[in-house]
Amino acid sequence: MARKIIAGNWKMNLNLAQGAALVKASDDYLNANPAKHIDVIVAPPAHQLVQTVKLSTNTKLSVVAQNMCAHENGAYTGEISASMLVDAGVELVIVGHSERREIFGEDDALLEAKLHKALEYDLYPIFCVGESLEQRQAGIHFKHIEKQLEAGLKNFNADQIPHIILAYEPIWAIGTGETASPEQAQEMHAFIRKFLTGKFSATVADETSILYGGSVKPSNAKDLFSQPDIDGGLIGGASIQIDSFLELIKIG
Ligand code: PGA
Repeated sequence: MARKIIAGNWKMNLNLAQGAALVKASDDYLNANPAKHIDVIVAPPAHQLVQTVKLSTNTKLSVVAQNMCAHENGAYTGEISASMLVDAGVELVIVGHSERREIFGEDDALLEAKLHKALEYDLYPIFCVGESLEQRQAGIHFKHIEKQLEAGLKNFNADQIPHIILAYEPIWAIGTGETASPEQAQEMHAFIRKFLTGKFSATVADETSILYGGSVKPSNAKDLFSQPDIDGGLIGGASIQIDSFLELIKIG
């Protein structure tokens, strides 16, 4: 069975004190609710990684970086490498978020390289895929997701795939307040699982977590997370407020 995950993507938000407060509140909630069987992950901006790892040590929380460089250490000003993330105690890394693809021009080949580099260092990638509104309206959304998955995963073997968490994040739903309906999300998640079955195996498909992202909030999370192929959420806006993040952990 795939792990159930609630992942908060803070993006370029929160200062050190706000980040610490969010981690502390999440830890307190998980300690007060020991029966909660869900992995809770937070993705702070780079300047907070070391602090967040420190605060998360000996808690049930894990820390995910929002990005990393595909290269080994060297002359890459402004970048952070996989080995540096490991050195900082980070366990996971987001790869291929649509904001990285669209705003920073990260293409399929670069993202594939990042996925391989992450696994080489035993970092669990959260690999994001998602279509634009135009692609959905043109009816090519399944084709587009298949293309992104194929490009990212083509050189992995079946044993490696369950170490990669997938996130379906329709671009038109990110930060817009507009969420995919539970039916739309389930339909795409089932498609992704079918892709994994066809390319790897039914066992791989069953063991790989597929998260939904795009305006998830407490008011819509229950319907989304109860879909059979949705294993949790990658949450932006609603993950940076303590009340809503705790509510999402509770629902998850
Ligand atoms: P959102 O962001 O929840 O603010 O829509 C999700 C994401 O980009 O991961």
